[in-house]
Order: sequence, then structure tokens, then C-alpha cells
Amino acid sequence: MTPGSPPAAPFHEWHALAGWGRAVWATARVARPRAADDVAALLAYAAEQRRRVTVRGAGRSYGDAALPADLLVLDTGRMRRVLAFDRDEGRITVEPGVTVEQLWRTVLPAGWWPPVVPGTMRPTLGGCVALNVHGKNQYCAGSIGEHVEEIEIVSARGTRRVVSAVRDVDLFHAVVGGAGLLGVIVSVTLRLLRITSGLLDVCAAAHGSLDEVAQDLDRRCGGSDYVVAWIDGFSRSGRGVVHSARHLREGEDASGADSLRLDAQELPQRLLGVVPRDRVALLMKPFAHGPGMRFVNAAKYRVAALRGEHRFRQSLAAFHFLLDHVPGWRSIYDPGGLIQHQSFVPAAAAAEVHGELLAMCRAAGIVSWLAVCKRHRPDAFLLSHGIDGFSLALDFRVTDANRERLWRLCGEMDRVVLGAGGHFYLAKDLTASPETFRAAYPGIARFREWKRELDPGGVLTSALAERLRLGPAQE
Ligand SMILES: Cc1cc2nc3c(=O)[nH]c(=O)nc-3n(C[C@H](O)[C@H](O)[C@H](O)COP(=O)(O)OP(=O)(O)OC[C@H]3O[C@@H](n4cnc5c(N)ncnc54)[C@H](O)[C@@H]3O)c2cc1C
Repeated sequence: MTPGSPPAAPFHEWHALAGWGRAVWATARVARPRAADDVAALLAYAAEQRRRVTVRGAGRSYGDAALPADLLVLDTGRMRRVLAFDRDEGRITVEPGVTVEQLWRTVLPAGWWPPVVPGTMRPTLGGCVALNVHGKNQYCAGSIGEHVEEIEIVSARGTRRVVSAVRDVDLFHAVVGGAGLLGVIVSVTLRLLRITSGLLDVCAAAHGSLDEVAQDLDRRCGGSDYVVAWIDGFSRSGRGVVHSARHLREGEDASGADSLRLDAQELPQRLLGVVPRDRVALLMKPFAHGPGMRFVNAAKYRVAALRGEHRFRQSLAAFHFLLDHVPGWRSIYDPGGLIQHQSFVPAAAAAEVHGELLAMCRAAGIVSWLAVCKRHRPDAFLLSHGIDGFSLALDFRVTDANRERLWRLCGEMDRVVLGAGGHFYLAKDLTASPETFRAAYPGIARFREWKRELDPGGVLTSALAERLRLGPAQE
């Protein structure tokens, strides 16, 4: 398609698409615009045909946030240009299909780093802003939206509009985190973080109970730039390992500028210096069942406990994108895929509530193979998942035999979380009910007003939006 011309054969490629967890699939007709004007033309076409469109970035949302409700998908993967980069001020403007990986590779050699990155570098900036992602520094840096100066959107009416964080505060807080339902983001201007080293000073410490993990995690937030904990979901104690990290200050890294080179950031080809990265998923396959994962979790804890608290230096990419170390790790969840239940609970109740959730899983006989805990802070976005508290992300394998029970378990866990004043996260969700969503997101009423104003025909939608009844006429 020539940029700006009306789409001759819009949405013509047929694809089978899945949520990242591959527990839910859809067939779609996909269009891949190259420029903002193409986006406007595609949306105008859809509105004219009375069809509904779902925006999709890299498809890294675990559930159905980027799956279509009505066949048509607008994929931003070809809009991958860096539009401006001010190396002195640390400000960059990119098209929505630029990935987190492309972003850090562009800015690192000039001494900058994205202020917020999720646990994988594959997502697009459009997708990250649309769900307002957080990193391991949410407790101090907030979510990515807090570092965005402005975005440009194409509304469902096909009009382009710049939305500034300063001049259009209300709309900005609706679109960022608005799951692609108020407009297609066609550019993002982001402030970057100044760094002098490509290395982090990392500390790992094992703890025998969930209480100790939560306390240490909280304590380390004081002096660290990033904190995250892994929990052994099989253990009754909730034992785990806390990792904290801080950027090296000027003069602390003797390798200096060398560590800012891209080749210094390449993920190691071998895990623990022994196992080739591309073999790890294969080697994990024999352990891909309850007893196997119980063993893996226990071994991980024991190794960390034996080593005791220790410090080491790690490249920014290796620390932040741990899951990208192991290509194909998701295949251990084949054939039914995985879902993630991530709950955000106020600090005072978190250890108790998260302990209760882990106990509910064990009682139901559906234990999370990977459990991760983080510290967060609240923010002003309408569909915010930020909270002054902790999140617990639980990955579950989906099988034909457990699917119904697993969804029921997630519903029961939702009630416990809501009862404690907590909430959830659209990037991970696949199981919440509209009632749960309404109760968890007080900003939903104002969000609906924006939806009615910007997209009264409900052109922009998704499987998630339909499931949670987020359309303009739905309550
Ligand atoms: C291994 C792994 C680890 C992760 N770790 C974290 C983490 O630590 N923290 C965290 O916050 N998230 C995390 N995530 C979730 C992920 O960062 C988010 O789901 C992110 O939104 C994915 O971006 P994407 O480009 O893949 O978007 P998609 O998944 O394709 O889309 C996400 C949403 O954004 C909308 N959208 C996409 N592009 C646009 C656009 N240009 N304009 C408007 N709307 C758009 C879609 O409609 C959809 O609602 C993780 C995911 C994985 C797979």
C-alpha cells in the first residue's frame, strides 16, 4: 500500500493468531499499514463497512487483549521507524511498531536506556503504551506512561490527534493504558534514562518464607533501582529469592564506555556457562509436569540458599530480559498453552492475600510453575494497574482436563483479591468477568465517556473488550 492512499485490498492476509500464552486463538484478516495515513484509511474503511478492528503490536499480551472480536486486525509491525532522537536531551520519537529491543539498541550507545521495560524485549512501543507496562522498577519509576511526553493517535473517526501528557491530561490518562480502544497510537515520544554503564550491580538473596521475601523486597526498594522476587509456588512456606539491582554510577565501572557497546549486551549463548540457550527448553521438557516442576522449583531455591546472599554484575539486557534467554521456553506448556493470573494487592494485606492464593492453588491441585512478585506504586491512569502494594504473577499450564477448574480457580482468586481492595492487569488477563473488572477499575466510568466521544460506533475493539464489555454501549 502506498502511504496515504486508500487501502486497495484492506485486511487481506488471513492468519491464525493467538494470545502469547497460546491458550486462546482466533482467525483474522490482517492489514499491515506502513504509515499513519494508512491507519486512518483502514479505520475509515472499517467504519464505512460497519466492521470492528483490533490493533495488534507484537502479540506479547498473555491473554486476549490483542485478539480480534470481529476478524479484522490492524498490525503495526511495519511501522518501525525512529522519527527523532535527541542524543543530548534523551528524548526519542518512534513509530508504534518499534520494539523495546530496537529502542534500547538505538539509544544505549549514546548513554541512554528506556526508563521502563517489561520482562521481554519483544513488545512494541505502541503495545507497551496501550497497556501502560511496568518494569522491575514500578515502585520508584512508575509505569511507562509516566515517561511519555506525547503520543499521536488516529481515532476511530480516522482523524489524527496529538495527545500531550501536559496539555491533554485527562485524555492522555485515558488513552495510555486504554488497551487500544480509544485510538491507534501512531507515534510515541519518550524521555530516556541517562546511564554511564551498561552493567548493573545485582544482589540475590534466598528467603525461607513469603513474609521474609515480602519484607526483604520492600526493604531493598529503598536503595535499589530494580527489585523482583521469584517464589516457589509448590512450597507451603512461600520461600523464594529476591533480586535487587542498581545502575553503576560514574566511575564505578572500569570498563566504562565499553559496557555501553551493543556487543557487551548480547545475551549469553550458554546458560550457567554450560547449556546452549537453544537446548534449554528441550532439556526442560522431561520436567514439564507437576512433580517435575516441583523438583525444578525446589532445586532453584536450594541452589540459591546454598550460595547465600551474593552480588554480581550483569548486563542491562541480561538482567531485564531473563525470559528471552531461553528461546521457546513457552513450548513446555504445549499443547494447551499457559495463562497468567497477576493480582495487585495493597501492601498491608499483600503477604497474607498472596499466601492465601498460593494455598488455594495447592488445594485445587493446580500449582503455578512460575511465580513472580514485584513492588508497585499507584498512578493516575484511568485503567491503571498501579497500586501501593505488591503483585503476584502466577503462570499456569492449561490442559483439556484442567481448563474449567483453572478458570474457576482464577475466579475464586479474583474474589479474594477484590475483597482486599486489589486489582488485575489487562496485559495478562484471560479469565476475569465484566463484574470483576468493573469492581477493580473505578476509572472505568470516565473511560466509557471517552469511548463514547471518540468511538461512538465501537470500531476499535478486541476479544478482551468484548469479554469485559468495554464497548461504548455496554455497561
Ligand atoms: C515473557 C513476557 C514477559 C512480560 N513481562 C511484563 C512485565 O514485566 N511488565 C509488564 O507490564 N508487561 C509484561 N508483559 C506483557 C507485555 O509487555 C504487554 O502485554 C505489552 O502490551 C505487549 O506489547 P505488544 O506490542 O506485544 O502488544 P500486543 O500484545 O500486540 O497488544 C497489547 C494491547 O495493546 C493494543 N495495541 C497494540 N499496539 C497498539 C497501538 N499502536 N495503538 C493502540 N493500541 C495498541 C492492543 O490492541 C492490545 O490491547 C510480558 C509479556 C511476556 C510475553
